[in-house]
Amino acid sequence: MNVGTMPLQAVWDSVLGYSSLLRSPFFPVFFSLSVYLFFCLPFVLLDLLSSRSALVRSFKIQPKSAASWETMRSCLALALYNHLVYIFPVTVLHWCWRPVSLPREAPGLLGLLWGCLACLLLFDFQYFVWHLLHHKVPWLYRTFHKVHHTHTATSALTTEYSGAWETLCLGFFAAINPFILGCHPLTELVFFVLNIWLSVEDHCGYDLPWATHRLVPGGLYGGAPHHDLHHLKFRSNYAPYFTHWDRLAGTLHRHED
Ligand SMILES: [Zn+2]
Ligand SMILES: [Zn+2]
Repeated sequence: MNVGTMPLQAVWDSVLGYSSLLRSPFFPVFFSLSVYLFFCLPFVLLDLLSSRSALVRSFKIQPKSAASWETMRSCLALALYNHLVYIFPVTVLHWCWRPVSLPREAPGLLGLLWGCLACLLLFDFQYFVWHLLHHKVPWLYRTFHKVHHTHTATSALTTEYSGAWETLCLGFFAAINPFILGCHPLTELVFFVLNIWLSVEDHCGYDLPWATHRLVPGGLYGGAPHHDLHHLKFRSNYAPYFTHWDRLAGTLHRHED
């Protein structure tokens, strides 16, 4: 066994214990939906508490906004519909085209961390270009991206409130990057989980003390306050996660600007 793979071998061995589940054509849709709902749940609970707790409200990026039951219901319904009608058939086609291969050996820890970061940076760039284009070309905005802008204040379940084209493009960007970079399946899984978490956090509507943008130094990461401002004002902060592309394009703004 390669020494570099040792820290993750036990983790990978236990993941391989579920190899029949991992090889199932139903796994990608089940995985993406359940991870998404799991990450949304704590923020939904905060939303329910926010009308009664001034402490919870103090962390809200837009303190006067409140996610109604109707908003939550419609967001949940659209996410379920998109997973069932679009993501499921596409992931089954992908499963037929590229059957799951599960090597015995785990990736090295450094390889996993580098792979996840590279996938995130690539995804961030791809969505920045896609997003900018879908705001600058009025037809693209009206036809494909406007749905995601239904809500001017973010809340966790608005993360996947998008039309078919946007849902499929984002799914494609997320799926193609580990393939392009030749990532190990464990790296791919960790990247998917991280990507779902960061997209939910972007839309959570709260600026919490442990938020990713507070943990990454130098203002390199935008996170929830940046993306919430994008939903509020439409004309800035097109990259989902990092700030460098908006900084280069002159489209980086903060809530206080
Ligand atoms: Zn937008
Ligand atoms: Zn958004």
